[in-house]
Amino acid sequence: MTPTGGLVGHLIFIAALLATVILVTVRTRRLVGFLRLGVSDNRFDDPLGRLKTVAINVLLQRRLLNNRLAGTVHLLIFYGFIIITLGTIQLILGGLATSLGLPLVGGDPVYQVVLDVFAALVLVSCAVAVYRRVVMRPPRLDNSGDAFFILGLIALLMVSLLLAEAFAIRAGGSTTAAASPIGGGLALLFGGVSIAAATTLYAVCWWVHILTVLGFAIYLPSSKHLHLVAAVPNTYFRQSEPKGALPKIENIEEQEHFGVGKIEEFSWKGLLDLYSCTQCGRCDRNCPALLSDKPLSPKELIQNLKYELFDQGDALVAARKAGADGHALPDRAPLIGGVIADETLWACTTCRWCVEACPVMIEHVPKIVEMRRNLVLEESRFPQEVIPVFNNLEKNANPWPMKRSQRGDWAKALGVKTMADVTKSGEEIDVLYFVGCMGSYDSRNKKVATAVATALQAAGVRFAILGKEEACNGDPARRIGNEYLYQTLAQENIDTLNKYGVTTVLTACAHCFNTIKNEYPQFGGDYQVLHHTQYLAELVASGRLKLNGNADLTTILGTGAGGNTGVTYHDPCYMARYNDSTEEPRALLQSLPMAGGALVEMERNKRQSFCCGGGGGRAFMEESQGKRISGVRLDQARETGAGTVAAGCPFCITMFEDGIKTKGWDGAMQVKDVSELIVAALPKDTAAAMGAEGATT
Ligand code: SF4
Ligand code: SF4
Repeated sequence: MTPTGGLVGHLIFIAALLATVILVTVRTRRLVGFLRLGVSDNRFDDPLGRLKTVAINVLLQRRLLNNRLAGTVHLLIFYGFIIITLGTIQLILGGLATSLGLPLVGGDPVYQVVLDVFAALVLVSCAVAVYRRVVMRPPRLDNSGDAFFILGLIALLMVSLLLAEAFAIRAGGSTTAAASPIGGGLALLFGGVSIAAATTLYAVCWWVHILTVLGFAIYLPSSKHLHLVAAVPNTYFRQSEPKGALPKIENIEEQEHFGVGKIEEFSWKGLLDLYSCTQCGRCDRNCPALLSDKPLSPKELIQNLKYELFDQGDALVAARKAGADGHALPDRAPLIGGVIADETLWACTTCRWCVEACPVMIEHVPKIVEMRRNLVLEESRFPQEVIPVFNNLEKNANPWPMKRSQRGDWAKALGVKTMADVTKSGEEIDVLYFVGCMGSYDSRNKKVATAVATALQAAGVRFAILGKEEACNGDPARRIGNEYLYQTLAQENIDTLNKYGVTTVLTACAHCFNTIKNEYPQFGGDYQVLHHTQYLAELVASGRLKLNGNADLTTILGTGAGGNTGVTYHDPCYMARYNDSTEEPRALLQSLPMAGGALVEMERNKRQSFCCGGGGGRAFMEESQGKRISGVRLDQARETGAGTVAAGCPFCITMFEDGIKTKGWDGAMQVKDVSELIVAALPKDTAAAMGAEGATT
C-alpha cells in the first residue's frame, strides 16, 4: 500500500523531506557555529572510559533512576523513542519506495510487537508526565509551554502511528496484523470501516505522523528538547577524573586575561553544556544556596547563560567572520553583573551537588569558579571580607593575622616532631601529617589536631608535621577565584614536601585532602594522600589502634533533642561527592563501643549529603542573605534525634558550632570530629599517657 497516494503526493512528500533536511542542516550549522566560539578544551582522552560513562548514564540512565518514578518514565520514553524512530525511518523509506526498508524492522513481526508495546508505554508515560506537571507539581519542574508542546507532539506521534497501523490492517495492506497487538486490536474496533475509507484514513494518519516527525526535527534545535541530541556528546565529553581538580591556568604570570567575563570565553564544552540542559531542576533540589534563600539557582544559571549564547551568538559568529571579536559588539550587557549577578556567583559553596545530580553531566562549578576568577583577577570585584583573607594568605600563609612561626605551637606539648627535626636526626616516618590552617590556629580545631596526633601516637605511627614550613593548601584562594595566590601557596608546599621526599600525606581536613590529592599533581606534587578517617579506620581494623570496649561514651555523645544519645555522621562534600569516601568514617563510628548501635543516618547522607555552607571560600564570607546553610543542615541532623554530629572536616565543625550557637542549641547538640570520639574510646591510661586529657572536652 503506497501511503503518499499517487505522483503528486509522492512529490509533496519528497519536497517536505528535502525542506526538512535543509532547515535542520541550517539550524544545526548555527548551533555548531556557536560552539566554535568557545575556547579550546581537550576532551578527547580516555575514549573507553568516556564510552563507559555514556553506557551507564545514557543507556542505563543511572542518574535519572535515582528518582524512581521520573527515572522510569524517562527510561520508557527514551527507549520508546529509539524503537519508534526506527519505525519512523521505515515509514519514510516506505514513502520513498515500497521496496525500501530497514533490516529487522520493515515487516518483521518481532519488531512489530516491540513497537506496539513501546508506543503504548510511551503514551502512558506521557500521561504520567502530564499528571506530574499538572497535579503533583514538583517544585523543580517548570511547567513551560514548550514542555507541554513536546509532550503533545510525542503523544500525537504515538497515536498516529498506532492508528496508521490499525487502518493498514483493516485495509488489508499490512502483513503483520497478527503480530500487532494494539494495531490489530484497534483494527477489530474499526471493523465497520470500509476498506476504501480505511485506506484513506491510513494515508491521513501516515501523513500526520510523518509531518509531525519532520516538524519535530525542525523545532528541536530551538526547544528544550535539544538535549535529545546534545546529551549524548555532552556525557561523552564529561570532565576527566579527578572530579576534585579545577582547571589550571597555565603560565599564569604571562596571562593578560583571566577566567570568563564573556559567554564566548567558556570552552566549547562549557557551551555544549548549555544545549544539554533539560530544565529538569535536579540541580536545584539540594542546592544549599537555593534552599537557604540565596540568589543562586544552578538551573537558572545554566538557562541564563544559554539565553545569552542564543542572544549574542549570531552577532559573535558574524564578528568573528569579519575578523573582529566580541568586544566590538555594541550595546552588549556585561555577562557578570548583567546576565549573572555577582551575588549569584558568591553564593556558591562549590558543594558539587548540582554536578552530581545533573543527568546530562553539566559542569556548574567550573563555570562559577571561572567567572569568579574573572571578577577577582581582572575586575578586583569580590566581597570586602575576603580582602584580609587574601592579604593574610599572602603574608602569613594562613587566612588570619596569625604568625607563621606559631603554626606548629599546638603540637609542642605532645612532643610531635617536625620534618626538619626528623630529617636532622635521620628518623624514618610513615606519614607526614599536613595539619592545615584550621588545625594549626583555630582553638576548636586545635583539639582535633591534638586528637589525631594522640591516636597516631597510640597506634605507634611514626609521623611528623611541617610546622612553620607548612602553608595553607590554597583551596579557599582557588575556589574564591584567586588562582594566582593559590598557585603560589601550592607551589611552596609542593617544594617543601618534595624537598623532604615525602611520599604519604595525612590530613584531617576534607579541603586539604582534595587539594593535595587531586590538584597538587597539576604542579608536580604526587603523593599518596590519606584522610584521617581513612587512616584511623585502617589502624583500628588492623588492630594497631585498640579501643576500650568498656568505655562509657554516653557523656561524650551527649543527649539529643529526643533524649537520644546517638551520633549522626555529616559527610563533607569534599570527601563524599568529590572523592567517593563515605564508608571509612562510618566503619570507625561503628567500631566505637555503643556508638555502633546508636549511629543514625540523616536522610541526606553519603554522596547525597547536604553542605555545611563552608566550602568555596564561603567560610570566610558573610552570610547576610537568607537562612544559614549550617542551620538547615543542623535541622536535618536534629530530625534524627542524635545529640552528636560527627564530622571529618574542620570547616564543617566551625560552621556547625556557629550554627548551634545561633540556634541556641548549646547543651542539646554538639559537634565532634570522628578522631575525638576515637580518642575518647582509647583505654584511659593510653590517652592520659599521650597527654590527650581534655582533647575531647
Ligand atoms: S555547587 Fe552547590 S552551592 Fe554551588 S550551585 Fe551547585 S549545588 Fe548550589
Ligand atoms: S543543569 Fe542538569 S540538573 Fe540542572 S536543570 Fe539542567 S539538566 Fe537538569
